[in-house]
Amino acid sequence: MANNDSLTTAEQLAREELIDMVPYQSARRLFASADQVAGEEKIWLNANEAPGLGDYQISANNINRYPDFQPDSLISAYSDYAGLSKTQVLATRGADEGIELIIRTFCKAYQDSILICPPTYGMYAISAENHGAGIVKVPLKQNDLTLDLDGLAEQVGKVNVVFLCSPGNPTGNLLPEEQIAAAIELFKDSAMVVVDEAYIEFSPDKTSTQLLSDYDNVIILRTLSKAFALAGLRCGFTLANQEVITLLSKVIAPYPISAPVAEIASQALTTKRQLMTDRVSDTNRLREELSQWLQTQRWCEQVFTSNANFVLFRCSSNETKTTIFELLVANNILIRDQSKQQQLSCCLRISIGNEQEIAKLQQVLTEQLSIPDERQ
Ligand SMILES: *Cc1c(COP(=O)(O)O)cnc(C)c1O
Repeated sequence: MANNDSLTTAEQLAREELIDMVPYQSARRLFASADQVAGEEKIWLNANEAPGLGDYQISANNINRYPDFQPDSLISAYSDYAGLSKTQVLATRGADEGIELIIRTFCKAYQDSILICPPTYGMYAISAENHGAGIVKVPLKQNDLTLDLDGLAEQVGKVNVVFLCSPGNPTGNLLPEEQIAAAIELFKDSAMVVVDEAYIEFSPDKTSTQLLSDYDNVIILRTLSKAFALAGLRCGFTLANQEVITLLSKVIAPYPISAPVAEIASQALTTKRQLMTDRVSDTNRLREELSQWLQTQRWCEQVFTSNANFVLFRCSSNETKTTIFELLVANNILIRDQSKQQQLSCCLRISIGNEQEIAKLQQVLTEQLSIPDERQ
């Protein structure tokens, strides 16, 4: 800051690191829904949202009252769904709030650090930066995107929270169960290990919830934003043993879940649960079909195995990547560029929309993409 006189009072008072900080570039910030022009319906395949409506009923009757801190019907519904006790569940404003609470609870600002394994979800680093926590990176292994356990072992005692993401975003792969258990064991006396299961509904038998009974340093993050198709609701869950939930409850806002949110979320988890399981089977089928199709395209160099509602693929060159992305934008189809992430040069990510949306994407690429065949 060369000249303090040109700063407003607010800018002078603010924590200095916030002035230059870049907020999370969410898919919705890069392309806002307000940008949509009438008559030009966009196909949104950039934020891993699910297609489909649920027809929820809400009664605004008790809206003059503050909601319960943790609405009992919601906590009961989620604990039933997850197979845990109510004391192991905290409802939050999306899994993103869970990430923030964990960092604020377990990291002293300007002193402690978190550990992330890139390429991974961007909010771990953004929340850490926001709080003043350091960020240690132990990248996933380049060949198979699994954990580098030797690299993790070197950080034991140096970090307070370790973030694992399985299935990973933006890669889509599950981490091997024995690796997750090994990481938790490594850090059992020195760090909380968070397993972000935002996409676990797409392979539900791979959950790590059973590790909660063996270790007290495990935290699992869940959300209704992906398989439950409720990204606009802002509802997520942090699963952990009671002592951890009690600590997080001291940091969270007093009324985090509004009454209408609790009502809709409770229905999604009980009477409307079948909507989610049907959507998951459709999505898994469409994802496999799209992955196979991508593998046959000459501009596609690599398709990453996915257990989530999106597919990541690598284009044959950076120019091809840009051409594909821009051709789709010109046709009102929005996907996500992941090429700036560590190890993901030339990579794009497609969220699995409904059948018509994926068919439209394939049609545009088949009929309109003209690129020289670089492999000849
Ligand atoms: C989408 C996502 C989240 C955040 O979900 P919200 O509940 O919408 O805040 C967290 N982690 C990962 C890996 C995600 O992809």
